[in-house]
Amino acid sequence: MSVPATPIDPYSLTTEGLAVLVEELGQPGYRVEQIRSWLVRGVDDPQEMTDLPKDLRAILAERFAPARPELIDHRVADDGHTHKLLLRFPDGEAIETVLMLYPRRATVCISTQAGCALGCPFCATGQAGFRRQLTAGEVIRQVVVADAALRSGAIAGEHLPTDSPDHITNVVYMGMGEPLANLPATLASVLWLHDPDGFNLSARGITVSTVGLVPGIKRLQELDLPVTLAVSLHAATDELRDELVPINVTHPLAELEQAVRDYRAATNRRASIEWCLIGEVNDSDLQADRLADIAKRLRAHVNVIPMNPTPGVRWKEPSGARTRAFVDRVRARGVEITLRDTRGRDADAACGQLLASYTLGGGSRLPAAVGAAERVDALAPDETAP
Ligand code: SAH
Ligand code: SF4
Repeated sequence: MSVPATPIDPYSLTTEGLAVLVEELGQPGYRVEQIRSWLVRGVDDPQEMTDLPKDLRAILAERFAPARPELIDHRVADDGHTHKLLLRFPDGEAIETVLMLYPRRATVCISTQAGCALGCPFCATGQAGFRRQLTAGEVIRQVVVADAALRSGAIAGEHLPTDSPDHITNVVYMGMGEPLANLPATLASVLWLHDPDGFNLSARGITVSTVGLVPGIKRLQELDLPVTLAVSLHAATDELRDELVPINVTHPLAELEQAVRDYRAATNRRASIEWCLIGEVNDSDLQADRLADIAKRLRAHVNVIPMNPTPGVRWKEPSGARTRAFVDRVRARGVEITLRDTRGRDADAACGQLLASYTLGGGSRLPAAVGAAERVDALAPDETAP
């Protein structure tokens, strides 16, 4: 008796997996390319794949079980330049995907986990805790949904920037979750997005953001693609970083710095450093000087993002004057530094914040993260010195 094949989400199939399936079904190899090109265009129902023979469509309809997300909210901010999509998967888990439109660039910011276990105390996703991993298919879907919406004109509106593209050109792994804590889905989706039969995006146009999971940086490096690495640093001394980014206890700054240096040597890609600027927490002259030292050693560009207010967190962004002083001080030390706008603030668009307005809590957290906010509050400003 033959065992019925387990239904597969077609977006979770790697190129090799799809090739095995096609071969198993006695089909020629070019079917892989045909099926992929439908998936890229957002068509996951084999019955709609009109260039496939009818009997193949029927077999695939039995084998595929597409995990289609439902769009449950769409908030628009920044005069139509930012679109925040809340997607819910069939099991009820919701995640967010943000589309950002610029002249000649359409970037989608995608999630890799429902929630996050790493518990950075300023981050809404971190406060909600970890709920579950996303599959590779669920990660890729977010790009497909955003791309299809752009191509179909569903995201249009009178305020669209005139020369923004009608398709996705860049992908940033900066939504909910820690991409390098979900390596199977992150690595498989990067390959799919870069694959010429997949999304065909340039590796340089793909950015993976991490708080510094060193083993994951090494695995990303092994893909041997010049994917851009963004390191969410937020603190330049171990004492402060242990509190702001609790995974620092496991992978402290020196180890992280070495991993980023190795990544650059292997991929020939400079990393960027992300710094969420929090008033009276990480905006001191000492942190600016230490940040400049690290950025110079890594030859990394620094992006400063003033902290977005997060429910349940008392911290705020620093004043405009303090923000400028911090940025100027780092720049004066010869570092390239950009002050980013907080895109989509009027649509709650900071990391995890749209979801936070629906549901907060219920997930698990890294033990080191519990109580981190209270411990940072208790630090006197001069105690953040090493
Ligand atoms: N876990 C990865 C990927 C998520 S990226 C990482 O942290 O890098 C999410 C980005 O949003 C990170 O750079 C994070 O520092 C930033 N962020 C989180 N909470 C924020 C807040 N309240 N205001 C501004 N930026 C925030
Ligand atoms: Fe997780 Fe990144 Fe938020 Fe930290 S900043 S809790 S790693 S999503």
